[in-house]
Amino acid sequence: MLSTDPIEKHFRLKPFQVAALKKLGILTLRDLLYHFPARYEEPGIQKQISETAAGDRVTLYGTIRNWKTGKTFHGRMPVAKAILDDGTKTMRLTWFNQPYLAKMVAENALVRVVGKVGTKDAFSMANPEIEVVDHVPLDHGVTLFAGENNEHHMPVYPESRGISSRWILYAVHKLLSHGMALQFVDPIPSRILKKYNLPTIGTALVWIHAPKQNKDSIAARKRFAFEEIFLIQLGKQRDRAHIDQLSSFRISKKEEETKAFMQRFPFKPTKAQQSSIDAILEDFSTTHAMSRLLEGDVGSGKTFVAAVTAHAVTTMHPQEKDFGNLQTAYMVPTEILAKQQFESFISYFGHLPIAIGLLTSHGCKKFPSKISATEATDISKAQLLAWVKNGEIPILVGTHALIQKNVKFKNLAYVIVDEQHRFGTAQRAALARKNDTAVHLLSMTATPIPRTLALTMYGDLDLTLLDEMPHGRKPIITKIVTSDTRTYAYEAIRRELVLGRQAYIICPRIDEPDPTKEMALIAKSVTEEAARLKKEVFPEYEIGILHSKMKPAEREDTMQKFCKNELHILVATSVIEVGVNVPNATVIMIEGAERFGLAQLHQLRGRVIRSNHQTYCYVLSESKGVISKGRLKALVTAKNGFELAEHDLRLRGAGELYGKRQWGITDVGMEALKNLKMVEAARTEAIAFIKNDPTGKNHQKLWQAAKERTANLHFE
Ligand code: ADP
Ligand code: MG
Repeated sequence: MLSTDPIEKHFRLKPFQVAALKKLGILTLRDLLYHFPARYEEPGIQKQISETAAGDRVTLYGTIRNWKTGKTFHGRMPVAKAILDDGTKTMRLTWFNQPYLAKMVAENALVRVVGKVGTKDAFSMANPEIEVVDHVPLDHGVTLFAGENNEHHMPVYPESRGISSRWILYAVHKLLSHGMALQFVDPIPSRILKKYNLPTIGTALVWIHAPKQNKDSIAARKRFAFEEIFLIQLGKQRDRAHIDQLSSFRISKKEEETKAFMQRFPFKPTKAQQSSIDAILEDFSTTHAMSRLLEGDVGSGKTFVAAVTAHAVTTMHPQEKDFGNLQTAYMVPTEILAKQQFESFISYFGHLPIAIGLLTSHGCKKFPSKISATEATDISKAQLLAWVKNGEIPILVGTHALIQKNVKFKNLAYVIVDEQHRFGTAQRAALARKNDTAVHLLSMTATPIPRTLALTMYGDLDLTLLDEMPHGRKPIITKIVTSDTRTYAYEAIRRELVLGRQAYIICPRIDEPDPTKEMALIAKSVTEEAARLKKEVFPEYEIGILHSKMKPAEREDTMQKFCKNELHILVATSVIEVGVNVPNATVIMIEGAERFGLAQLHQLRGRVIRSNHQTYCYVLSESKGVISKGRLKALVTAKNGFELAEHDLRLRGAGELYGKRQWGITDVGMEALKNLKMVEAARTEAIAFIKNDPTGKNHQKLWQAAKERTANLHFE
């Protein structure tokens, strides 16, 4: 019996059961052993049937007879029924949806049954756990000692139609009794296990599936959580060590020039902006390539940090030359944003002899043009690429068109990826690898994520937070509205519109497994809602729509109109990130708020916090639940997105943070994300490890495990 054996080799399974197991991700015996319980049922008190009362949770022993299978009275649900007899009385047992039980437990078998006695009928039980045993424990029925032998915690596993928790328990016990837990080589060095008081892999596998006491399963889960984070960290730290080895362009600090550049802006940098710039310039002044993540709420001024640091790079000559410029590439996820940032960079760099290019799949531009020193002009892609290649264009702004093979730079030294969560890891890496020499990389994101998650997913990057908003911003006023007070929100929106301002209305998320269908449904709801608002609520205003079914040109057109205030209200989906600066938009209404994570809601309302006017957010929740109300209240008081992300993590767990997105971290691994100490310990150990054995040649197994663990990790 090998852990790599396919599961069918050792268990007699029907095709639908094989399919159900596959759905649970279980193909091999190892997979089965790594299918951990979702929870443990408290043991019931051991009783004799005659002693039971309605509603009791009990453990009973007896013989089983009169198996019957059939269908439920109303519907088509299969049921299995049997009688349990312990000599004092009989109990009627019924199972729904588990007809195979009748085949697994023979007539007259001696069994243990754990479950809740019916509340109406004290001699019946529905869906109890059942297990064949070879003897009745000695103390059974002797109330004096009851409880002593009662430390039995029944694991409950994630199930799938056709494979019940009960079947998994039985199968896992079979593997454990064959000593399979001992087949695994522990990837965690024993020194580390001892240091953190973690059980070995063999012990942990037994404890997680068959805990004798509560603390066994807790210790086992802790161990697996540590293991997962440790392996991920190891993979990330290895990547980091690799980057650190590469030499990069050294960019000397020119404090006076940088200061002069900053002074041209109509505002003073925030403390957070200044310290981010300092950290980046410090990185530049060494010979190593920088790898940094800049996290800051929408409107925290990330572009300023990008521009000032790009200035430091592009005003440098290439090594050993006294002419020419080092180059900067600035990648953004959408065409609209590319144009906007191109314009911004022109206003920042226009006074300097630094040309700026714009590259998108729909056209190219260059600033300045041949005829005007103050204007940009359309040029052919071939011409733009030629100038980028010979170094005449030091700053190139663009969409993922920048990654294409035919885009070649002469002296690319700095890559900035804006809204980096919109790109895949491979896309980011492709841009960073444009050169023989490693480039400095600045990734920017407005996705607020808790510290533990950032340290794990971005363990290979240095982290900088922009946790401060520019001075003069009035904090957004957020109000929770229910359907009864919806008109109140509409009136509030109208007050803004009357002042000449604009509004966003976000339609609810629609959960639909098929993404094409989902997009169609959302498009429909956006269109209908816009029509309804025009007819019933805002007939006097122009209303536009934005959803992902629209063609890029249509979307662009709508955005342009909204920018020019030709549209007063924009009804949009949450899927579309507008990401464009429309300071005149001062109010946003979010429908179906309970379907979003707090961090997501915060990002949505971020669309209106770019203005110096007072801004408003109306959060619509139909839910009457106290928890979801309390959760939404945090939105009213929180200072920034990080705070909300931490809040969501504590309240709902990491799995719920950004909807139901999967990142390739298991549920047990997710548990670790609630524990900063554990994440930090795993990180410290991984860093120490890489220091001692940078190539992993003394720890091949561990290396392999880390590689496998990080291979399908993704967070975008
Ligand atoms: P984001 O972090 O979302 O990319 P932006 O860089 O687009 O934010 O900045 C939002 C707005 O705030 C811009 O109009 C920008 O000019 C302005 N801004 C940036 N930094 C400051 C500051 N320190 N003081 C005042 N306004 C600022
Ligand atoms: Mg931005």
